[in-house]
Amino acid sequence: MSRQRRRLVYEGKAKALFEGPEPGTLVQHFKDDATAFNNQKRGTISGKGVINNRISAHLMMRLGEMDIPTHFLRPLNMREQLVREVEIIPVEVVVRNVAAGSLSKRLDIKEGTPLPRPLIEWYFKNDELNDPLVLDEHILAFGWAAEDELDEMFGYALRINDYLSGLFHAINIRLIDIKFEFGRHFSDEGMHILLADEISPDTSRLWDLETDDKLDKDRFRRDLGKIEEAYQEVARRLGVLPKSDRAEASA
Ligand code: UDP
Repeated sequence: MSRQRRRLVYEGKAKALFEGPEPGTLVQHFKDDATAFNNQKRGTISGKGVINNRISAHLMMRLGEMDIPTHFLRPLNMREQLVREVEIIPVEVVVRNVAAGSLSKRLDIKEGTPLPRPLIEWYFKNDELNDPLVLDEHILAFGWAAEDELDEMFGYALRINDYLSGLFHAINIRLIDIKFEFGRHFSDEGMHILLADEISPDTSRLWDLETDDKLDKDRFRRDLGKIEEAYQEVARRLGVLPKSDRAEASA
C-alpha cells in the first residue's frame, strides 16, 4: 500500500500516524527527525526511525509476552508498524531509577545518583505549556484520567520498568529513566488501558553499565556526537539491528 493513499491521522515530532488497513488500527511511522527542549533544538538523526521502529516493536512484543497490554500489533516495514488505535491519555508517566535530566536540575541532585526506589512522576502532555510536572491531584481534578486509570498506569509503569531494567541489565545497559504513554482502547469487551507510543532511546535514558556512556537521546540534546552509533549499539545489543546497518556498523 503506498503511503500517499493513506490518510494522515496525526503528525508529531518523531512519528506520524496513518489510517491502518483494518478498522481500529493505525500505521505508526518512525521519522529521523529529533527535537529537544520543547522544539527549540531540531535535527535529524540518520537512520533513527528505522532503529526505533525495530527497538520499540521488539520491546513491546517482549512486554506483551509478560501480559502487559500494548498497542503493538505487528511490524510492517523498516519504518512502520501496525498498532491499535487508542485514545491517548494526556499524561506522560516517567519512571526514574537514577537521578538525571530534569530531576537533577530541579532538585540539584547529581546525575547518576541511584534512587532508593523507582520514582514515578506525571507530566501533563501539553506542548504550549512545555509538558509541566503535575500531581495526581491535578490529573483527577481536571479529568485527564480517572482514579482507576491512574492506579493502572502506576502499576503498569512499575512492572514495565522492573522488566525492562532486567532486560537491559542483561545486555550491559542501565535503565536510568523512561517515559511511558498509555491509551484507552475501546472494544466489545469494554475499555482497556494499553501501553502506547514507543519505547526507544528517544524516550529513555540508557547508560552503558561499565563506562556510563550515554546510549540515548542525551547525545543529541547535549551535542555529545556519535548519536547514530549509540542508537545502533542499543539495537545491536538487543539483537535487532537491521541488516544494512549491521554491515555499516562493523565497517
Ligand atoms: N522524556 C520523553 N519525552 C518528553 C520528556 C521526557 O520521552 O517529552 C523522557 C526522557 O527521554 C527521559 C525521561 O523521559 O528518558 C525523563 O526526562 P526528563 O524529565 O529528565 O526530561 P528532559 O530534561 O530530559 O527533557
